Amino acid sequence: MPFFPASLENLIDKFASLPGIGRKSAQRLAFHVLSLPEGEGESFANAILEARKNVCCCKICQNLTEGEVCSVCSSTKRDKSIVCVVSEPRDVLSIERSHEYNGVYHVLHGVLSPISHVGPDDIRISELIHRVAADNSEIKEIIMATNPDTEGEATAMYISRLLKPFDVCLLYTSPSPRDP
Ligand code: ZN
Repeated sequence: MPFFPASLENLIDKFASLPGIGRKSAQRLAFHVLSLPEGEGESFANAILEARKNVCCCKICQNLTEGEVCSVCSSTKRDKSIVCVVSEPRDVLSIERSHEYNGVYHVLHGVLSPISHVGPDDIRISELIHRVAADNSEIKEIIMATNPDTEGEATAMYISRLLKPFDVCLLYTSPSPRDP
């Protein structure tokens, strides 16, 4: 029999399902949420619902945005001939913080991982190929900036092979260190 009331157990389960949250931390977070003053618990829950409803993927670069096209893709100051390919939206954030890159991005939302059963159709690879293959494509250079680990490098190599038929210059780098 569960130790806590059913709805509290449920809340703990939800927190525990988040990445990096163990059972003890989940309990701590659930108790904290219950101790919030009147109204704050609701605004916390609403923030989740609002983000789920309003945040979607940019139809060009697949980065997270509100609306169809993100601020980078819609900016007239960005160089659309250079595309930096990253695995996660947070990689865009760390590159943007450096203020040294003026091109645009492509966010894969993952890397190829046979162990975790992530194949080419599970991440946004075909969207990148379509961008490069489009008749009006301005893309001249693609910077592969997936992580320098086995899966990141395998993903970069896989994409490089798909890009071979196209007249684009390929460069390899790794994203700036992520925030913990
Ligand atoms: Zn975009």
